[in-house]
Amino acid sequence: MTARLIDGISIAARVRSEVTVGVSKLLKDSGITPGLATVLVGDNVASETYVRAKRKACAEVGIESFGHVLSSSATQSEVVDLIRDLNVDSQVHGILVQLPLPDDINEEEVLALISIEKDVDGFHPVNIGKLGMKGREPLFVPCTPDGCMRLLQESGAEFPGANAVVLGRSNIVGLPAAMLLLKRNATLTVCHSGTRDLPEVCRQADILIAAVGRPEMVKGDWIKPGAFVIDVGINNKWVSHTADREFLCVSSGETFIAHHQDLSENGGRKRVGYIDKDSGDVYSRDHLPEGIDVEGLVKLFRKNRLVGDVDFDEVKEVAGHITPVPGGVGPMTIAQLLSNTLRSAQALADK
Ligand code: NDP
Repeated sequence: MTARLIDGISIAARVRSEVTVGVSKLLKDSGITPGLATVLVGDNVASETYVRAKRKACAEVGIESFGHVLSSSATQSEVVDLIRDLNVDSQVHGILVQLPLPDDINEEEVLALISIEKDVDGFHPVNIGKLGMKGREPLFVPCTPDGCMRLLQESGAEFPGANAVVLGRSNIVGLPAAMLLLKRNATLTVCHSGTRDLPEVCRQADILIAAVGRPEMVKGDWIKPGAFVIDVGINNKWVSHTADREFLCVSSGETFIAHHQDLSENGGRKRVGYIDKDSGDVYSRDHLPEGIDVEGLVKLFRKNRLVGDVDFDEVKEVAGHITPVPGGVGPMTIAQLLSNTLRSAQALADK
């Protein structure tokens, strides 16, 4: 059996066109243009890329975006002051603080300060708390897990009573995904790095959401025949050989910087070097082992292969429905952000 593909690109396109229609109706009916403020602190290259993509997507659907960039030396009180200003800015209906924040900024305080009416990323503790509570509804739900639910729904998954397994319990994906499944009356198991016998737990799943950041970890024999499999992972993977070693190179969640994983018998997992995808510059060259073909590696890196947390080729032979990587969950995250920003502006118009 070969699973049916869950096409995130076309489902996300549908969400975006719904948003486009909603934005022009809102403008016509109440003269309001939805506005999203993005807050970027520091110079994390991947974060800059994500924020640029989000602002471009806003422009495409008619949402105005306001980009705020603070340097890596910004203080907690500068970030806090900015959020306070945005909370009372009437042109701003959604506030997106790009994570991760630099180490010396207290993320918990910053996220809790965002007005819950403008918390379009859904990370405010009140929104997350309501997500986990029976009989309560959050104003906003985190975009990636919400996108996973839409993909499942559109592909015909039935939630009540289904055995749902979530791999990963991060605040941004695993945990809210689990709470969403529970809200839809699935019977839930959440796995993490301490879970025993993952394959056996996964084999019980009618619905499996994988969000671990481990390239192709979920194998075909972990899957219940006919299951719905949602692969959140975005990992770069490529393999390089030296005379006596093989290096599997992975980069999880970081678009431009990668680390090499030494797979030799005693090599273990260690960072041995970094390559800038754009420039091809190799940093910490001293840590690269003797004899490694750096130029060859750079070439491989440039045509790197994105893989998920699921071994697609194996799992598609067993599952009933499966998301590809790329083209599955990824496109849904920004689409849900646009949708949340529109909803926030509509709520203001309805007041
Ligand atoms: P985190 O690193 O924050 O969390 C990973 C989770 O997986 C943790 O709960 C961890 O357990 C668990 N885990 C790690 N290794 C194992 C293992 N060997 N066995 C069982 N559990 C394990 O990652 P994120 O949730 O932020 O992201 C997960 C993946 O999703 C990444 O590949 C990321 O790039 C991708 N992603 C994709 C998005 C999209 O738009 N498509 C958006 C956000 C993320 P523990 O808690 O015990 O440490």
